[in-house]
Amino acid sequence: MQFHKYDVLIVGAGGAGMRAAIEAGQRARTAVLTKLYPTRSHTGAAQGGMCAALANVEEDNWEWHTFDTVKGGDYLTDQDAAEIMAKEAIDAVLDLEKMGLPFNRTQEGKIDQRRFGGHTRDHGKAAVRRSCYAADRTGHMILQTLYQNCVKHGIEFYNEFYVLDVVLSDTENGQVATGAIAYELATGEIHVFQAKSIVFATGGFGKVFKTTSNAHTLTGDGMGIYYRKGLPLEDMEFYQFHPTGLAGLGILLTEGARGEGAILRNKDGERFMERYAPTIKDLAPRDIVARSMVLEVLEGRGAGPDADYVYLDCTHLGAEVLESKLPDITEFARTYLGIDPVTEPVPVYPTAHYAMGGIPTTVRGEALRDNENVIPGLYAAGEVACVSVHGSNRLGTNSLLDINVFGKRAGIAAAEYASTVDHVDLPDEPAAMVQGMVDTLRSAEGSERVVEIRTELQRTMDANAAVYRTEDTLKRALHDVQALKERYGRVGVQDKGKRYNTDLLEAVELGFLLDLAECLVNAALARKESRGGHAREDYPDRDDTNFMRHSMSYKVLPDGNTGPDPDAPLGLTGFLSDIRLDYKPVVFTRYEPMERKY
Ligand SMILES: Cc1cc2nc3c(=O)[nH]c(=O)nc-3n(C[C@H](O)[C@H](O)[C@H](O)COP(=O)(O)OP(=O)(O)OC[C@H]3O[C@@H](n4cnc5c(N)ncnc54)[C@H](O)[C@@H]3O)c2cc1C
Repeated sequence: MQFHKYDVLIVGAGGAGMRAAIEAGQRARTAVLTKLYPTRSHTGAAQGGMCAALANVEEDNWEWHTFDTVKGGDYLTDQDAAEIMAKEAIDAVLDLEKMGLPFNRTQEGKIDQRRFGGHTRDHGKAAVRRSCYAADRTGHMILQTLYQNCVKHGIEFYNEFYVLDVVLSDTENGQVATGAIAYELATGEIHVFQAKSIVFATGGFGKVFKTTSNAHTLTGDGMGIYYRKGLPLEDMEFYQFHPTGLAGLGILLTEGARGEGAILRNKDGERFMERYAPTIKDLAPRDIVARSMVLEVLEGRGAGPDADYVYLDCTHLGAEVLESKLPDITEFARTYLGIDPVTEPVPVYPTAHYAMGGIPTTVRGEALRDNENVIPGLYAAGEVACVSVHGSNRLGTNSLLDINVFGKRAGIAAAEYASTVDHVDLPDEPAAMVQGMVDTLRSAEGSERVVEIRTELQRTMDANAAVYRTEDTLKRALHDVQALKERYGRVGVQDKGKRYNTDLLEAVELGFLLDLAECLVNAALARKESRGGHAREDYPDRDDTNFMRHSMSYKVLPDGNTGPDPDAPLGLTGFLSDIRLDYKPVVFTRYEPMERKY
């Protein structure tokens, strides 16, 4: 076992992790641990843009952006956090520009901006041009730019190191974070990293669903690790479905296409969003567009042989706009569906895209152990975290913004904290749990196969916990997930070797997916209302009286340090899981919840 000591550890080398590393690395001895080579992180797949009220092409300001973010999140957004994000957006874009990011430009040489769903002028009057972009490769440019700047600052990277546990030490003042345990893919060795502060930036968990825009690696490891410590996950029921995945495949076509003027049509060629969102139509927020698409299909207006998708019509944009501003998605449609967007409408359907929930944090990125108290030394930023700036539904381009604003904040806070404290001793045998888990899985001879359990998990989540949910479908999903967890206990791993044992790691990742799917479904069952990304057919209205609050899911540990709550989850007799649900108030500053019309 190898031992390492740093001031700050960053877990994850996507946009959030590297933005944090650039700040921490200039203030403290910092290492980044990442299971992927940094530039393979999912941030690199982001397409459409990153928003900021620069007002480069038309009037705009941060207050309108804050309002859109709050209303877009169906008023579950913490308004103090949204305000910080909208204000700091401007510097976040300029920071990237100074680091060398090649944004698309206007004729006069300013950063160009385009429209995106839910971003409006003057509190909903019309769509506004707020998204800064680099063709439809904005995430790729951000990731490359941040990586180059990490290299410039001499940040140390441990690539293909899978963090499987965070170490907490008991002190007179309670638990503090003191390190992380990592598995090195190349050798199968376990490494112990001691540090004064640790930033989790491990991204999302889209792989609980089958039809998803997310990469194979998005298995929610950071959330899973946190949750298994008995620490809370916030708002797990809110999972975003992006309206325009390639039908049947889930591969993403950016909302930037609609930002440039593309239109959704049903089988009759009708621009159906005019009925659901008369003012901003196809540029309504994603939850509203995804629900509308599903309704079109359910009511018999879907297109194709099975009437199960709608069309994204880009034909009126012209070849030049498609080739210059949306080249990648034009190519995706040609490659994966054999359809040329220049001349034909593209079949699309909602695809699982983004986790609004995650590790609860303060606006400085400090991880919360309950509604009020932080775990000293522990931070989270990016899709793994829930600040909560996205409430129950994130607006497009607000995630690339979130990772830059809160990645930077977490990096600064982690380094500043590290400069004020000494290293705290690690507990005895800090790697015992990880060593035990790895040894057990490697020697497991069980008959259950990882791929089969994962396929069945994704099938039941697609069928029962996607855009529309009911008590019945959610109970079915919960029942299936719990049965799969039981089968997971008998899983076998075929590769017994130490070098590049991806078989073993896929088994570990499946364990995280199962836990997170259970959290999602359990919280969704208890939320008897429809809000943002959570649409209940049996409770179609938003219920501010009972549910204007964040959910907090705690795993009840064997030592019982979080006791079961007799009042929640409701109506779950026979399905009782080891999850205790609690609630946290929403932060309001200037906006009262209103009816949400677009
Ligand atoms: C196809 C697609 C297009 C998108 N387009 C846009 C867009 O145009 N605009 C927008 O705002 N948002 C967009 N999003 C969303 C946005 O890209 C993501 O939410 C955001 O990039 C997440 O960044 P992150 O740094 O939190 O995580 P990621 O970029 O996913 O990085 C996660 C990092 O964690 C590491 N990691 C994970 N587990 C472990 C572990 N156990 N041990 C060590 N390391 C680990 C990985 O190696 C990786 O480096 C898009 C998302 C997708 C999937």
